[in-house]
Amino acid sequence: MRVTSVLFVAVLFVAAATLGGHRQQSLEIYSIDVEGGNAVLFVSPTGESLLFDAGNPGVRDAGQIAAAAQQAGVKQINYLVISHWHNDHFGSVPVLSAKVPIRNFVDHGPPMIETSENALAGYKAYTAVRDTGHYMRVKPGDKIPIKGLDVQVVTSDGAAITSPLQGSGAPNPLCREFKPMVENAAAAEDGRSTGIVVRFGRFRAIELGDLTWTKEYALVCPNNLLGTFDLYFTDRHGIAAGSPTFVHALKPRVAIFDNGARKGASREAFFTLKSSPGLEDIWQLHYGVPRPAREAFGETTDQGGKDLNAPEEFIANLVEEHTPTDAAHNLEISAREDGSFSLTNQRTRYNKEYRPRQ
Ligand SMILES: [Zn+2]
Repeated sequence: MRVTSVLFVAVLFVAAATLGGHRQQSLEIYSIDVEGGNAVLFVSPTGESLLFDAGNPGVRDAGQIAAAAQQAGVKQINYLVISHWHNDHFGSVPVLSAKVPIRNFVDHGPPMIETSENALAGYKAYTAVRDTGHYMRVKPGDKIPIKGLDVQVVTSDGAAITSPLQGSGAPNPLCREFKPMVENAAAAEDGRSTGIVVRFGRFRAIELGDLTWTKEYALVCPNNLLGTFDLYFTDRHGIAAGSPTFVHALKPRVAIFDNGARKGASREAFFTLKSSPGLEDIWQLHYGVPRPAREAFGETTDQGGKDLNAPEEFIANLVEEHTPTDAAHNLEISAREDGSFSLTNQRTRYNKEYRPRQ
């Protein structure tokens, strides 16, 4: 009897240690709904956090990001990385910083060409907050020193890494098929996006903000300097970015569209992903409603609707837009060092498990 009790206690102890250990061994990622802006929260197994982009100005997106931080058990943002100076990527910072303390601010440096006065006013409001913390202006090849993860900057201020990441660098045969794109006025700042590769053991994710079709090219041609990925956050919300030469070289297993109901997840990006070798699923933050083409973004045909969306269980939000008091839904990713990961749709709790790649 006594031996049994000792054994029982030992089993409980091992079970508790395993559970506790497991919780500490995952990278948690929240793709936060900011209505067609961008905001992704990475929480390292050490508990340190990195927020990549911060959505639109005002209280709505700041509230949605603060709510996600609370769900994640994050009391401060250790590193805030702002990809570039368009309002849908950094506008919420002044409001957000009053809700969640931000320690280190990471960006590509000041805007060089500014087309919008709103964005310039936003930039000034941002720098006022940035000056209260520690500032890191990054260039390609720099690492963001979040504990427990390997986060490398691969693009910044229009420049890209010139030597391959570990394990990559093979010639990309798809470069021959690359067709340049005529890019719109927004492309100048979009192309300066700070982009990162996040590695946790064998798990690899890539987030390049609004990097453009033209700038992606330098990362994968003539050689693929990035390698292949488990998780790909689509560039530029899936509008006029993500060429087949780029996406098919990255061979993402899962792609997430940071789209809005009427923005991004374009027909072209959708079919490029659908035909990408090894792609298992497309997930989306919003259902894309039927809408006319935005010609300034290279769209030539009508967009959205049933045939240009993933199945509903892979879509976090079916409504067009949320009010500040409405609950928006995020996508949650839990990744492990062996390269396996799972995705959960907060709207339905639908969960899908992805085994480690071969
Ligand atoms: Zn942009």
